[in-house]
Amino acid sequence: MRTALFLLALVGFGAACRTSAPAMVADLLIVNARVWTGVPAEPEAEAVAVVGGRVAAIGTTSALSAWRGPSTRVIDAGGARVLPGFNDSHVHFMGGGLQLDHVDLRQAPSTEAFARLIGERAQQTPPGAWILGGDWDDQLWDPPVLPTRQLIDAVAATTPVFVNRFDGHMAVANTAALRLAGVTAATPDPPGGVVVRDAAGNPTGLLKDAAMGLVSRVVPPFTPARRAQALARALAHAASLGVTSVRDMGPDAGDLATYAGFAEAGRLTVRLSAAPSELQWADQARLGIRRGFGTPFFTLGAVKGFADGSLGSTTAYFFEPYTDAPATRGLLADEMIPIEGMRERLTSADAAGLQLCIHAIGDQAISVVLDLFTGVAQANGARDRRFRIEHAQHVAPGDFERFASLGVIAAVQPYHAADDGRWAERRIGPDRIQTTYAFRTFLDKGVRLAFGSDWPVAPLDPILGIHAAVTRATIDGKNPGGWVPAQKITVEEAVRAYTAGSAFAEFTEADKGTLAPGALADIVILSEDIFTIVPARIRDVKVRTTIVGGRVVFDAPR
Ligand SMILES: [Zn+2]
Repeated sequence: MRTALFLLALVGFGAACRTSAPAMVADLLIVNARVWTGVPAEPEAEAVAVVGGRVAAIGTTSALSAWRGPSTRVIDAGGARVLPGFNDSHVHFMGGGLQLDHVDLRQAPSTEAFARLIGERAQQTPPGAWILGGDWDDQLWDPPVLPTRQLIDAVAATTPVFVNRFDGHMAVANTAALRLAGVTAATPDPPGGVVVRDAAGNPTGLLKDAAMGLVSRVVPPFTPARRAQALARALAHAASLGVTSVRDMGPDAGDLATYAGFAEAGRLTVRLSAAPSELQWADQARLGIRRGFGTPFFTLGAVKGFADGSLGSTTAYFFEPYTDAPATRGLLADEMIPIEGMRERLTSADAAGLQLCIHAIGDQAISVVLDLFTGVAQANGARDRRFRIEHAQHVAPGDFERFASLGVIAAVQPYHAADDGRWAERRIGPDRIQTTYAFRTFLDKGVRLAFGSDWPVAPLDPILGIHAAVTRATIDGKNPGGWVPAQKITVEEAVRAYTAGSAFAEFTEADKGTLAPGALADIVILSEDIFTIVPARIRDVKVRTTIVGGRVVFDAPR
């Protein structure tokens, strides 16, 4: 087994470290574990030695005992499964932290429950403060109906309320909020958005996509103290789930300032790589910030854009009309209008060395983004640029090859398949669902996957995402054999997409995603072996211990 140690040492440290005795004492030693290293040549080990926040050696428990000294913290894993820390390639981290503070409408089973929860919150809300967040899901209601301002006015007449659907692509305001925003029957639909109106032409309170900006722009900004509280909550939540890195999508300047402050104070227990809006690409370019710029705990150098809306809001942009709404094919996002503007910004951002991450859900939106990426690559020449399409939900069969040939990463969120799978066929019909959340097809075509959650749109828990990708079971329990089962992938493929796949998608594969000498010591210890447990039970697996940079940041009570 010394040989195994040597092979892995070679991977990380090169020939200089080919000695049989360690030169140092480990800060942390994990022993008696079942370590999945993610390194194909040596996939399994028993022990990990950590020095200075990085993996120093991998091998058997007996071989690594030489690294033990009086100051070494030893964790006896008792045969538990150990993985590289989970890397969530798509979250809204501050939004997630704020949601932990907000009214929670996710589980409201009816419009009555929706109204009751808002009414209860209104009674505890001081005058002038808004009720926000919510993440309601009309598909849980029988029959599914979209909420109106009248429903909320009845329980919150004076408190401004603006609560969003869980996918973030529509929100409903009460009359008090509409009044503050000056939204009336005379307000036109903004580009890329819809003000939903009743038969008399008056706003119902429901605003879709860009129209949400009519109200959100009058919501008072979050204070720095509020943001710090939200970030602290988000960090603790992530640590409890084994999430050691995230790509944060669309942070604003206040979020970035909060992250930087935490980074400086050594308070980050999750490594953050931020992708602010492509609309502000020049802010990063002007300072010479390029992909991966920053420290191991906080990086910039990417931009996030939107090509369309979502399936749940019928704003994902398709070639053909929606099956259950034949009058529409969805909407391009407002930043795609006009498309020349998007093309110019993306070409300039790419030329400046920034990574492009574009949200595209409908098949035509994905196709248009692939066209844009093709043009950017032609304009700026060959380079290792790692284009990303975020969500990549409904792919036209001919477009998989284009992902592969352009090297576009599919940054996908498997939990959405378990969730949308309940109703997606009603919405887009039996043919288009064959290439919906098509993880198997992506891998078979040679496309790289980066897994994530889209938290707070979906739960942050990576275990639920892996369960969804492996079983394709929907969350209503109605598809135990899998929804479009041909798109299932293996546990190992799913774990890889949630570790090395996400690391590659942020240019950090040399540091993250595998447990090899030299890698950052970001490690999770699980309650059960995710590789051998019956797939249906994967969702019951818990994180026992989370380690970031060799430091234990979460230890489950036992
Ligand atoms: Zn998102």
